[in-house]
Amino acid sequence: MDAPQVEAAPATAVLPSEGVDALLAELARQGYEVRGPTLRDGVIVHDVLDHAEQLPRGVGDLQGPGRYRTTERGDDAYFGYAVGPTSAKRELFPPRQPLWSAVSVGDADFEIIEADRASPRVALFGLRPCELAAIAIQDRVLLHGAVPDEVYTANRADLLLVGVECGDPAATCFCTSMGTGPGTDRGADLLMTELLEGDHRFLVRAPTAAGAAILAALDTRPATEEDLRARDTVLREAAEGIERHLDVEPIHDLLLGNLEHPRWDDIAGRCLACGNCTLVCPTCFCTTVEDTTDLAGTSAQRERRWDSCFSLDFTHTGPASVRNTTRARYRQWLTHKLATWIDQFDTSGCVGCGRCITWCPVGIDLTVEVATIQRTSEDPAAPARS
Ligand code: SF4
Ligand code: SF4
Repeated sequence: MDAPQVEAAPATAVLPSEGVDALLAELARQGYEVRGPTLRDGVIVHDVLDHAEQLPRGVGDLQGPGRYRTTERGDDAYFGYAVGPTSAKRELFPPRQPLWSAVSVGDADFEIIEADRASPRVALFGLRPCELAAIAIQDRVLLHGAVPDEVYTANRADLLLVGVECGDPAATCFCTSMGTGPGTDRGADLLMTELLEGDHRFLVRAPTAAGAAILAALDTRPATEEDLRARDTVLREAAEGIERHLDVEPIHDLLLGNLEHPRWDDIAGRCLACGNCTLVCPTCFCTTVEDTTDLAGTSAQRERRWDSCFSLDFTHTGPASVRNTTRARYRQWLTHKLATWIDQFDTSGCVGCGRCITWCPVGIDLTVEVATIQRTSEDPAAPARS
């Protein structure tokens, strides 16, 4: 379905905080199934949203290496937290995806049934700027790459993105190093900034026609200079609150020039090779294929599911895995994410969301590991080994 066109809509408008329900209702009226942040089992995750009461209002979060807690903020903020463990990857590139199934039709013959690729019209609501940047990276790999991914392409079509800039980054965030946050001007159909000082309200921008069609249907007022200054303050304070840093400029040659650095052994002594970091990462896309049959042998299913470069079987070729140590697997993950991804896709594979730090059960922090290699490397600019 084509995005509806509108004649005119305010480029930047102000929506009162009570207008969030009307925004969700308008998305539904225009045919979108809305998925956004909600509190489940003490964690903020993305799920289906029908009304504003399902948003984690007044909830904050405390994040650190291997640590995540939600908190009571003591205010009415709708978006007073940073990213949780789920990302848009779960919607666009699902953890399990049926590819095809087969049923017996007798005489040792089978009928093959292709999986349904139809996708509902979805609006992803409340995406942070780092999340929008991650979608742009996945687009580059899975939509515009040499071989577009069928599943991702189907889910990406007719998708509406509603971004919300960050006012309360977590202690594990480093988007300022990666140039992906805490604010953004691109990547979404609607971009919102929550303003808590004075009247609780949202500054809303609509960079696309689809976003403008939503905004035009809402009860808003034009933004004033004061509203724009309030946004600047939110973003400046958020950027000042970011504690972690990654020195991006030398990172490609630094990592590839230190493939035998002793720090890889040190990390391997702590790493459980659990793969959590790859599963929560909004850009990691490794998969495997699994076949199952029923016991009678009358039906079979083939599914694609997320895999991880930390799994021993992931690189099992011939008689054994080619990365048979945790040292080799962690090194592969970090050097791909931060260095060889640039060679492959002309972009870093990291957006600085901090999820791999928060959800690592032993608190391994890639910003610390890179800084340690940098600090102890005799020749950080040494050329990559072949
Ligand atoms: S590597 Fe870590 S910080 Fe970077 S995008 Fe992935 S999960 Fe986020
Ligand atoms: S770095 Fe942490 S999250 Fe990643 S595989 Fe090792 S223990 Fe698991």
